[in-house]
Amino acid sequence: MGTVIATWEQPSLAVADSGDRFPVRRIFCVGRNYAEHAREMGFDPDREPPFFFMKPADALRSEAEGFPYPTQSENVHHEVELVVALGKGGKEVAKDRALDLIYGYAVGLDMTRRDLQGAMKKAGRPWEAGKAFDASAPCGELQPAARIGHPKSGRISLTVNGEARQTGDLSELIWSVPETIEHLSALFELKPGDLIFTGTPAGVGPVVPGDVMVATVEGVGEITVKVS
Ligand code: MN
Repeated sequence: MGTVIATWEQPSLAVADSGDRFPVRRIFCVGRNYAEHAREMGFDPDREPPFFFMKPADALRSEAEGFPYPTQSENVHHEVELVVALGKGGKEVAKDRALDLIYGYAVGLDMTRRDLQGAMKKAGRPWEAGKAFDASAPCGELQPAARIGHPKSGRISLTVNGEARQTGDLSELIWSVPETIEHLSALFELKPGDLIFTGTPAGVGPVVPGDVMVATVEGVGEITVKVS
């Protein structure tokens, strides 16, 4: 039996220092997971359980592919995030077992059409056009947890054209990676190949074509992504 249209390449991430690829199933993202960023977006970080949204797996782009500025927006923001890649699945996973699911970590960008997202929030509508657009998930190579361990603290930062924009520390996550997996797996059965973008620290802001973003997570790596 054949397929009735041509099949496409499975979205995947490179595994660092190897010729291997990590096939990507789904991309979950955590909203407002650093207190200072929640405040800069106008929310009280103390009263919110974690919430999630998604991007399609084919929104991933490598450093080399860069970030093409999207249509229909005049205010596209960078959000540097620690990305968790699941090598195993599970549902209703307790936080003390959650690290067992993790294959590795990467540095990613949750690129956001902030103007569209703002209009959708105001209208009580879904965020897809603001968050899940084409190429909205630049992401670096995966670092296996077997090699780097599970980072619980360390600087997370982003510069644009060499100028500091975002800075924070992984220890400031409102919902830690294990707690995030516990909450997410209560809502969805998690599967091997799922990614979780864990939220962004304060300092989000706009980019324009020609900008160069450098995103760093201490202990995980650094990516350089050009806006075209
Ligand atoms: Mn984000």
